[in-house]
Amino acid sequence: MRASATSGRPHSATACAAGKVEPTGLGGGARRITVLGATGSIGRSTLDLVARSGEAFEIEALTANADAEGLARLAIAHRARVAVVAEPAAYPRLAELLSGTGIEAAAGPAALVEAASRPADCVVAAIVGAAGLPPTIAAVRQGRRVALANKECLVTAGDIFMRETRAASTELLPVDSEHSAAFQAIGNAEPGWIEEITLTASGGPFREWDIARLAKALPSEALRHPNWSMGAKITIDSATMMNKGLELIEAYHLFPVAVEQIRIVVHPQSIVHCLVSYRDGSVLAQLSSPDMRTPIALALSWPSRMDAPTERLDLVRLGQLTFEAPDETRFPAIALARAALQRGGCAPAVLNAANEIAVHAFLAGRIGFLDIAETVAKCLETADGRGLLGPRAALDDVLAVDEEARQLARTMLTASSRSSVHGSSLPFD
Ligand code: NDP
Repeated sequence: MRASATSGRPHSATACAAGKVEPTGLGGGARRITVLGATGSIGRSTLDLVARSGEAFEIEALTANADAEGLARLAIAHRARVAVVAEPAAYPRLAELLSGTGIEAAAGPAALVEAASRPADCVVAAIVGAAGLPPTIAAVRQGRRVALANKECLVTAGDIFMRETRAASTELLPVDSEHSAAFQAIGNAEPGWIEEITLTASGGPFREWDIARLAKALPSEALRHPNWSMGAKITIDSATMMNKGLELIEAYHLFPVAVEQIRIVVHPQSIVHCLVSYRDGSVLAQLSSPDMRTPIALALSWPSRMDAPTERLDLVRLGQLTFEAPDETRFPAIALARAALQRGGCAPAVLNAANEIAVHAFLAGRIGFLDIAETVAKCLETADGRGLLGPRAALDDVLAVDEEARQLARTMLTASSRSSVHGSSLPFD
């Protein structure tokens, strides 16, 4: 049997529920929810569940980046107390749309943190990217239950994030389907009982594409995920399989296992989300149709269960569930993420920052599909040379490394586009 938690990280047995475990069944009064990233795919799925749950929930705050129209519509429909846009330029429109409704409008990074810190029974962290870190950690510090979709929080600053979670006795409920599955399959198990956690991956839209075809893959093709309907960034991460690399880092921080105990298996049907293998040979898995409303519902209602209007599994109709090893030659992002996690310190933060910039550049048609992982690899190498990969104890220092890595990736992409005959000379943002 392999040793567990060899990293020496402190973990509670149930890992995610780092502190108090209070009964929060759906009985009793309405529960107050804040949704960070309300206009996105996870945000809207959360609000769909809320709308179907009668009086079970009420909305405290909703946030978005710049989509004032979308946010105002949701805030009015759900009678939110506060609506916040991160982008100050979107504020006048938001204020205009909310005028006379009694809903408070605000804008900017400080307002986002304030919204996340307001009293709530649960804060759903569904901003995309490391931008979600400051408000999510603000919610953690208030000891709110956090339903965590924003995996980039844990990738960028996992050690600090988990330390803060334990210090505030915050309940951290994973929303990522694989981690929600692991959370359920682990339950109250002792860390030493767990042999291995297997995260499944759909393989994305390019699972069967060869390298030559991948080199020419278009954003529109990468955005066509076979199973899941998600925001653009995670859909591209799914196509490169960086998403699974980020999830590997996320699982390492959430659960009491060493990096060597986390396996990735491609499962094209996306029905089995994670398997937890125990020292006695038992393997516990969680299955559900690929619809994020199932893990979101669990995070909102745990330790109770609430209704989710998802397609029910019909195993006979499904017939077959298949599994295969990931091809890390065509999809090098998994190995990059694993190496960054093994390196520790700020390597995962640099990996994430470079990936965010590269995905943005790919979506804007400025670089090719294979350039995404290549940019991340080069950025890690250069950042290492500049001494950026070492550990940082304070969140602000990690955020400074994140910003420096973004700048590095932008400079690299601008330089390579200048040297390319076909490249754009536009700056990379
Ligand atoms: P979307 O792109 O659909 O939505 C992102 C949300 O974040 C939007 O509300 C957006 O506002 C807001 N936002 C974007 N940038 C900023 C910023 N700089 N500051 C503040 N808010 C910002 O993303 P998803 O819902 O797909 O994903 C959200 C998170 O959940 C990601 O971390 C993803 O990895 C994770 N996740 C998603 C899954 C899914 O099925 N979608 C599955 C598992 C995990 P605006 O609309 O104004 O741009």
